[in-house]
Amino acid sequence: MALSLAITEQVVGFREPLPTAWGRLDRRTLFLVELTGSDGIVGRGEAAPLEAYDGVSDDACRAGLRALAAELAQIDEDAPGHLVLDRLSATTPVQQALAAIDLAFWDRGGRRSGQPVAELLASGPLDGVAVHKTIGGVPAARAAEIAREAAAVGFTAFKVKVGLRVVGETGCEPATSTGAADIDGDVARVLAVREAVGPEARIKVDANGAWSVDEAVEALGRLTARPIAIRTAEEPVSGGDAWPHLRAALNAARIDIELSVDETADREPGAIRRGPDVVELKLARTGGIGPLLVRASLAQIAGVQIALASTFDGPLGIAAAVHAAAALKIERPLGLATLDALDLDDAPELADLAQRLAPVGGRIPLPPGPGLV
Ligand SMILES: [Mg+2]
Repeated sequence: MALSLAITEQVVGFREPLPTAWGRLDRRTLFLVELTGSDGIVGRGEAAPLEAYDGVSDDACRAGLRALAAELAQIDEDAPGHLVLDRLSATTPVQQALAAIDLAFWDRGGRRSGQPVAELLASGPLDGVAVHKTIGGVPAARAAEIAREAAAVGFTAFKVKVGLRVVGETGCEPATSTGAADIDGDVARVLAVREAVGPEARIKVDANGAWSVDEAVEALGRLTARPIAIRTAEEPVSGGDAWPHLRAALNAARIDIELSVDETADREPGAIRRGPDVVELKLARTGGIGPLLVRASLAQIAGVQIALASTFDGPLGIAAAVHAAAALKIERPLGLATLDALDLDDAPELADLAQRLAPVGGRIPLPPGPGLV
């Protein structure tokens, strides 16, 4: 018997358009898959391409999933797992499509054994993972409002988008498209968040690679000083060649800050050896739980810590990342509290799943399973 794969699509809007250093987001497509075997047990997965961010179009993802469905129809469901993996990864290069199948296999495996996926991955996984509230490139007053609301429901960690240029009183645009950073605007936004959440809260910034080395040194010098006192900067500069220069310049300026690499590590995996303390891994573009664990091991060997973040994934992607993070026993706050950015009013089934992954006191509880959620 072969496995059968059913594919559906759901377009979901963002509650508030999200301006970032790589573009403005209004909506996204989620591809949902159901993998069924002869035992009738269904495993569910999700592909979450985000073209503005990862360059993978919906058409490319759709074609990848259809190719994978055709290939799965040719594979005996009792074939050894490594042969199945080899055949699937030779079918399409689209990691988001491969991730959907990987998730469905894990979900089905959990359902078959009656266990949550995290228990399949490791013994004694965490019972939940800490998450931060992400605040987009909005003007300072709006950033403070979002931060206050999040703090009121228990968030103690925040990530603020920077590397942007404030436009009028309502919006921002990527600084890279205008050719000049607006460090005053970035500092004002982060200061507003600090004042809203108090001195104890943990704040990091994410520049999505928009700064030059000189801009990053100036901005991080101001952002690490009291009272803002951020502790981590994600993707301050872009490209592996810039990282050693940034690290040297920060050391020379006696600026003590943890650096986290994101997009650069996706394009240049070797960049994790060029200065960052932390690498951000994303399930959707890594190809799923299995490949993510391989990347995590390689980072650990290089002495780099691991963080997980979403590319505004749907609930199945978030659930899978929570299981992986719980199995990896990651204590730092992660970028997985992104489901409430999506308007799921027209997708009641997804809204129900998202409800089960809602952060409680700044943590997403591990779904008890079986399977992903
Ligand atoms: Mg990032």
